[in-house]
Amino acid sequence: MKTIYTFGNGQAEGRADMKDLLGGKGANLAEMNLIGVPVPPGFTITTEVCRLYNEKGREAVVEMIKDDVKKSVEHIEKLTGNKFNDPSNPQLVSVRSGAPVSMPGMMDTVLNLGINDAVAETLAKKSGNPRFAWDSYRRFVQMYGDVVLGMKPTNKTDIDPFEAIIEELKEKKGVKFDTELDVDDLKELVVRFKAAVKENTGKDFPTDAYDQLWGAIYAVFDSWNNDRAILYRRMNQIPEEYGTAVNVQAMVYGNMGNNSATGVCFSRDAGTGENLFNGEYLINAQGEDVVAGVRTPQQIMTEGSRRWAAMQGISEEERAAKYPSLEESMPECANQLVDIQHKLEEHYRDMQDMEFTIQDGKLWLLQTRNGKRTGAAMVKIAMDLLREGKIDEKTVIKRMEPGKLDELLHPVFDKAAVKTAKVMAKGLPASPGAATGQIVFFADDAEEWASRKKKVIMVRLETSPEDLRGMSVAQGILTARGGMTSHAAVVARGMGKCCVSGAGEIKVDYKARTVEMGGKTYKEGDWISINGSTGEVYDGLVATVDADLSGDFAAVMNLAEKYSKMDVYTNADSPRDAKVARKLGAHGIGLCRTEHMFFEGDRIKAMREMIIAPDEASRRIALQKLLPLQRGDFEGIFEAMDGYEVTIRLLDPPLHEFVPHQLETMRELAEQTGRTLDEVKLVCDGLEEFNPMLGHRGCRLGNTYPEITEMQARAIIEAALNMQARGIVVKPKIMVPLIGVKNEIQMQADIINETAKKVFAERGETVAYKVGTMIEIPRAALVADQIAQVVDFFSFGTNDLTQMTFGYSRDDAGKFLAIYKNLGILKVDPFEVLDQEGVGQLVEMACRKGRGVKPELNLGICGEHGGEPSSVKFCASLNMNYVSCSPYRVPIARLAAAQAAVENA
Ligand code: ADP
Ligand code: MG
Ligand code: MG
Repeated sequence: MKTIYTFGNGQAEGRADMKDLLGGKGANLAEMNLIGVPVPPGFTITTEVCRLYNEKGREAVVEMIKDDVKKSVEHIEKLTGNKFNDPSNPQLVSVRSGAPVSMPGMMDTVLNLGINDAVAETLAKKSGNPRFAWDSYRRFVQMYGDVVLGMKPTNKTDIDPFEAIIEELKEKKGVKFDTELDVDDLKELVVRFKAAVKENTGKDFPTDAYDQLWGAIYAVFDSWNNDRAILYRRMNQIPEEYGTAVNVQAMVYGNMGNNSATGVCFSRDAGTGENLFNGEYLINAQGEDVVAGVRTPQQIMTEGSRRWAAMQGISEEERAAKYPSLEESMPECANQLVDIQHKLEEHYRDMQDMEFTIQDGKLWLLQTRNGKRTGAAMVKIAMDLLREGKIDEKTVIKRMEPGKLDELLHPVFDKAAVKTAKVMAKGLPASPGAATGQIVFFADDAEEWASRKKKVIMVRLETSPEDLRGMSVAQGILTARGGMTSHAAVVARGMGKCCVSGAGEIKVDYKARTVEMGGKTYKEGDWISINGSTGEVYDGLVATVDADLSGDFAAVMNLAEKYSKMDVYTNADSPRDAKVARKLGAHGIGLCRTEHMFFEGDRIKAMREMIIAPDEASRRIALQKLLPLQRGDFEGIFEAMDGYEVTIRLLDPPLHEFVPHQLETMRELAEQTGRTLDEVKLVCDGLEEFNPMLGHRGCRLGNTYPEITEMQARAIIEAALNMQARGIVVKPKIMVPLIGVKNEIQMQADIINETAKKVFAERGETVAYKVGTMIEIPRAALVADQIAQVVDFFSFGTNDLTQMTFGYSRDDAGKFLAIYKNLGILKVDPFEVLDQEGVGQLVEMACRKGRGVKPELNLGICGEHGGEPSSVKFCASLNMNYVSCSPYRVPIARLAAAQAAVENA
């Protein structure tokens, strides 16, 4: 088994398409070598080794790769001419993790590994820059202490123990910035850091380079199973068994003086998708300095720099003097970087997110990957690349993450409201969108508030991976520090969450839980609004309006239409919802629930009158009152869906849901119907069930009270005829819920057909309609061949089907499902993502049995799963005619359907 792949000097044993084995970072480091991009030499220990590490343990793995590691280190030495673990001519390395899919900030990197007192002296002498040597050394001890020796702060208000030591020293010296510390200070830091390590771990800090290296390799492997990595994988459905690779790479130093720098850049704008090379850098800095938000990073391109300055209210003079672009400060490196980003984008045919370091005027690339982006950028970049002829239409569809379209459908700030909104602070437009909510300062508070259905905005100095959970439930994120590539910005864009970063003027006080801006002090719980597209922070709540669905969004939707084989319908109970869904591309209604119509205004009175009626005759009188109301509702929906099918489900919930529960309302009902209060109470109490979900509901109502089905069928057919007379094309489908045995649907179908016949005779005209059933009881799936003989269509009610197949009550499962997911008993919530393995078998069987007896049987799904991409793809694989989902999920389902078609082609 080959455990290690080397790269360097234009050659590599790996390739870009070996991500599973080498991780994303390692595979791309190899590829960059192969296409002539300057990359420091190094090697990658495979993900396979990580899996073995988790299975067989540390010793077995060390034994297996020991010699290979040694040889690979020699490979680096050969290319650089330096020696690892040799104080006279030292080679330092970085140890970096890298999983098959990028997990930003999840795994920790250690830089400058291989350094000790003697090595630092040599580096100081050789470079003629002792500051650089001791700065590298103190960084190493700090990083190694944090990452490998586990000295991260434990309390959320605590700061890093090493940072505390730095702060103490700065205070003693009376200076503000790290850069103001001199060589002796840095030396003292190293001593104090090591003392802190000793105190904390009881062990001396390792001085041997190989001891350091192995420690770091273990730490990378161990980090695969740290809490935040596990959380990120769970949130993004990344398999546990992937494992991470370890990259060991020769150091290049961005902290060697003013002719050195480090930075990150994007070949296009990750927020808006604009085709504009952009990025940030810092002179005389290393590694994460740019994203850590310690110093204000500068822009790479002059145009970007000017835009940035304008947004920060910085004059052109001040900008040019204090914050020059890389183009201005190191023009040759900037030009070379422009060429390289171009080359990389051409090569990968996608927007690249790159890391680079300049050591003494020489540019090195340290990473490239397809950049994370907002939903808007995803759409624009793909359409731009299509127009530029770099990718084809099918690739556009494949590149979409359907769930991300959601961001484009959401409201933006109302233009008028924004004009009058009071701007309290300004930061960077880190991730576009509009967010309004109550201020919280800590991730756990964000989670707690969100669980109480509160809208929150997380306000922080800066964010770190520990804040992930909180960020994921917040409406938006506001930070005081950090640039466009800070942790907050990158993660927010990845989540499609609105974010304003680096609002330097806001003063956050974690202890007091306040933030001061624009002369006002806000407490936890106060309302603010943030504009991720402009960087503005507004006082209070600012009104929002619906998103614009034209342009590139429409173009992508047209492509989806062109390639998908399955239709997308919507679940809509009102003409308003139907219209919204139609605008979003729905081609019909897959589920129109009728019960909601009975709650509006005075209708509930007629409904209650019907329910407590003592006999059929009085029930019919009450139903007569409901008929015109229902008919009117259906007319509105038919009109909104002119030309498309409308699937109307007959009454489904148990009657008990409609009766009054308060004495006052019962008394009213008694008066209204001329009955005594006791009589009314008796009926209402009598309707109560131990297990209403499995009680007197669905077709059981229509079969025990046939006049209800009769009234509903009449309302549907009459409405259809009325609309048809007005020139509207109506295609009604009448759907019977909760069928388990053939006779149930037979009886309902008979009532519907007889009623239709009667209405046609009365009116002297007809309309085509279909009768179908929901498949939502496991038994119905098992006898689908019998049921298919009676009906024109099946619609899978996967909410109930999931509930009854798992035996989980939808209303009570929340409590244990969360625990089940944490324990890994279930990977996902089966009410969100269709359980293809179990419930899917029933769906597949019902499709097969149904079409077996009736090949033209129309098949669809109307559960919540109809808008969930993986479930939509599953439905496509069964050749369903359509999926139906809530209006705002329609574009997502359309794309998923197109992806299913393109991926299977
Ligand atoms: P992450 O996955 O969190 O981005 P990386 O391994 O990419 O972690 O590294 C963290 C930082 O260290 C990045 O800024 C990267 O460019 C820098 N870095 C990594 N390896 C080297 C190296 N050999 N020389 C100089 N800088 C490096
Ligand atoms: Mg990186
Ligand atoms: Mg149901």
